[in-house]
Order: sequence, then C-alpha cells, then structure tokens
Amino acid sequence: MSDGQDGRANGRPPDGTRITPEHDDLLLDVMLGKLATYLRMCGYDAVYALDEGIEADDAVQRRAAADARRLLTRDRELAASTPGSILLTARDVTDQLRELREAGVDLTLAARPARCGACNGSVDSLPPDCDRPEYAPDEGPVWRCRDCGQCFWKGSHWDDVAATLADL
Ligand SMILES: [Zn+2]
Repeated sequence: MSDGQDGRANGRPPDGTRITPEHDDLLLDVMLGKLATYLRMCGYDAVYALDEGIEADDAVQRRAAADARRLLTRDRELAASTPGSILLTARDVTDQLRELREAGVDLTLAARPARCGACNGSVDSLPPDCDRPEYAPDEGPVWRCRDCGQCFWKGSHWDDVAATLADL
C-alpha cells in the first residue's frame, strides 16, 4: 500500500482511493464496535480491537501493520501516525458511515453474507435440506458462522441495515 504525504497529514487515504472488501481488510479501534457490524455486513474482514483484547495505541498499530489492515479510529494522534488510516470524528454510527463513504469506502450490503456481523468469522450457506435452526424462518437462505455458530438470514435486521446504507 502506498501512502502519499496527504494521507499521512490528515489521517485519510489520498483522494481517489477506493476501499473495497476485495482489497482492504480493516481494523477498528475502540469505540467502533457498532460500526464493525455494518462493515462486516458489507463484506469487510473487519477486526474490532476490543474483541481481540487490543487497546493500547502501539498494540493497535502493530496489529494493523502485521495484518496489513487499514485502521479506522477516532483518535486523531493515532490516525496521524498510522499510514493509510481513516480518522472518524462522528460519534453516531450513521454519521460514521457517512464519513467512511466520503473517505472512499465502498458501503454496499453484500448480496451474499461473507462475514459474521457478531464475530467477523467466515460464514457458510446452510444446505437447503439441513435441519434449520428453530428460530430461523422456514424459507430463504440461511448462513452459519464457522467461528461462533450464529445463524443469520436476510430478515428485518438485514432490511434495517440496507435502509440505513441507502439513506446515507
Ligand atoms: Zn460469528
């Protein structure tokens, strides 16, 4: 990843950089856990620092560098000293999503879920003839997280996220 002086100066990627789930893995700093769920539903491999027990600035930076993840943070100094990071200033998750879109982050709800919103694990489609979990709807595809076992489908939560992203 190349970073121009502009990116370092203001904590944002250089203008014109498109950030997509295919090319960018993300690391979210503390206080951005809610945002992580949205980004995972858009298909991003989005690690939330607190889920991993990472809190100190230098530990966050090391993890971002080790995994080649782009850091999202509300910490101005941390953003300024981490190449390629994105500084978020808003507290509200919808406003944060707006900031990300302005920073060139592709926010399209994945047609087929790739990541578990709860834990960031990879998900598999359940075969149509499998025993569906009791709480799942009778119709439509269901996915299950390989890591935490949570099942999900395109229900009302999915529609809510779609509506939020469409209204940004
Ligand atoms: Zn999971």
